[in-house]
Amino acid sequence: MLIDTHCHVQMRQFNADRESVIASAFSSGIGRLIVPGTDVPTSESALELAQQHPGRIFAGVGTHPHDAETLTPEALSAERALAQRPGVVAIGEIGLDYYRNLSPQDVQREALVAQLALARDLDLPVILHNRESHTDMISLLRAHGDGVRGVFHCFIGDRAMAKDALDLGFYLSFAGPLTYPRNEELRDVSAWAPADRILVETDSPYLAPQSLRGKRNEPQHVAHVARTLAETRGVTDDVIAAMTTRNAIALFRLPELTPETGV
Ligand SMILES: [Zn+2]
Ligand SMILES: [Zn+2]
Repeated sequence: MLIDTHCHVQMRQFNADRESVIASAFSSGIGRLIVPGTDVPTSESALELAQQHPGRIFAGVGTHPHDAETLTPEALSAERALAQRPGVVAIGEIGLDYYRNLSPQDVQREALVAQLALARDLDLPVILHNRESHTDMISLLRAHGDGVRGVFHCFIGDRAMAKDALDLGFYLSFAGPLTYPRNEELRDVSAWAPADRILVETDSPYLAPQSLRGKRNEPQHVAHVARTLAETRGVTDDVIAAMTTRNAIALFRLPELTPETGV
């Protein structure tokens, strides 16, 4: 069993076939999904999916750096209320994106700091988006992330960047980019990272693995990421499944697997 720790199946790209995409994931051995929001409405729709699939789908509540300008004081209190509902396991996704800069960088930083405080208050892990913003991310976590745990989602970087995240107690989550052989540095990190700190995800509908390049990604394809991780680490698929599932359960405090069904 694998857990896709980051997929946006609430988004419009799945409006035509959402339930069949979810059913295919479950029938292909993806036991659980974590669905992060990117603003208040998509956090609400993530929570609705969690309520429709209790114990199988869990929600993140958060405002993405692209949408940081929407995080008004009212939106932040809406997040606080939503995040206390059953089925919510994280604050996310939140973070910094200096590659696309769809919100001004100072607004992104403010939104991140406010949501780190929310995560600390509610004792929830954070799901971090971090693109071309590593230095600021690490210094903001050092200054404002005391007592906050979480994951660098779709980790991309070298060992030094990974070490910064690991030293702060964070997990690393690997996604589709790992499946591209040219990403040697990332593959090296995936081989070297501690076994108790790694997760897998798809970031559906984005970041399709190499074999499905250009297509819409969906949660069942997390198996491609897990397969690559098994290769880089030189272990079996079963070892990767057990390791990453155990880590996801620990970080997001998911219910333990039931022995009969394994999910
Ligand atoms: Zn992201
Ligand atoms: Zn995402």
